[in-house]
Amino acid sequence: MPRFGFRRSENQEPRISKATSPVDEAAVLGALRRVIDPDLQRDVVSLGMIKEVEIQSGEAGASIRFTFELTTPACPIRDQLEAQARAAVAALPGVAHVDVRMAAHVRSVGGPHRTQLPGVKNVIGVASGKGGVGKSTVTVNLACSLSRSGATVGVLDADVYGPSVPTLLNVWDTPRVIEDRIQPLQAYGLRVMSMGFLIGSDEPIVWRGPMISQAVTQMVQEVAWGELDYLLIDLPPGTGDIQLTIAQVLNLTGVVIVTTPQHVALGIASKAQAMFKQLHVPILGIVENMSYFLCPSCGERTDIFSHGGAQNLCERAKVPLLGEIPLDTLVRESGDSGRPIAADESNSAQRQVFDTVARNMARQASIRAARVLPLVQVEQR
Ligand code: ADP
Repeated sequence: MPRFGFRRSENQEPRISKATSPVDEAAVLGALRRVIDPDLQRDVVSLGMIKEVEIQSGEAGASIRFTFELTTPACPIRDQLEAQARAAVAALPGVAHVDVRMAAHVRSVGGPHRTQLPGVKNVIGVASGKGGVGKSTVTVNLACSLSRSGATVGVLDADVYGPSVPTLLNVWDTPRVIEDRIQPLQAYGLRVMSMGFLIGSDEPIVWRGPMISQAVTQMVQEVAWGELDYLLIDLPPGTGDIQLTIAQVLNLTGVVIVTTPQHVALGIASKAQAMFKQLHVPILGIVENMSYFLCPSCGERTDIFSHGGAQNLCERAKVPLLGEIPLDTLVRESGDSGRPIAADESNSAQRQVFDTVARNMARQASIRAARVLPLVQVEQR
């Protein structure tokens, strides 16, 4: 997958060369105004996605160059938008050549500080109704997919009662503290923090509600995350104090709910979904993990835990289904060995599934970032 250059400029106005040509900038921008972002339902020029338009006249006709700045490097409709923009400009009379530079600049929910973590543009919680549905596996792999697309990504393991991120990424060092800030560890290009680094993942946590909330708040706020496009938070299963604390302390772009297709898992996932709705935390979508099994020898598909449950839940809750991840030995083995399949160099079918889910999630985050979300205060029990 190509890595896209990031442009940090917030400037909405395209820079235009002065070269004389029968095709002028107004015509180029006019053509590009017909390209509509299907999610934001606005044209790409007024959305500030077109930058640095350059026009060079030549004997055969004009050469047009411009930068098309997407709202995420993991944009699932990148090729579609690029093709539409190219075709729109190429159709102008007098244009001989069109060069589109694709770039990305992840946008934040309502300005740079809206996540409550300066420098972190989007905070996304990954939740589940119950344990063992693959929430941590999905979190880590989605983070790797986003990172490979060119985004800067952090992972916070807030599943303090059963931190598994250190195992999934095979990182175990004790984080250093510099000027009162905890330095996240690095793995597969991700910045990572877990309670497992501080207490060891085999030691049980016996803290009570207020202590655990304080510890999580500290982990969130005292880590030197730096500049991040996405911080993914692996939340504990269920609907407890930690989810509440995080929803209060941070302005989440949204949460992703991971479930398996069984009725019982879906029932509890639906409760988690209802809790976040009550907290005014948007649901970016639902991921069905262990959705089906593809036989490695004959390729036959078996719906071990039945199928279609997450789709039904999405329809009822009016949230997108972000993807269906198969039950797969490679996914489990890569997790156990601390080498996430989505960080793998080989373009495996398993990696592609996680890439698709990550793109769908990033797309929903971009849509949410276009809106301003209120912070909700909930009474601490
Ligand atoms: P949770 O965070 O929901 O408790 P984990 O991510 O720790 O769940 O996963 C539980 C177990 O299931 C782990 O052994 C993991 O490797 C395995 N697992 C998760 N997703 C899959 C999958 N799609 N295919 C095969 N095994 C999986």
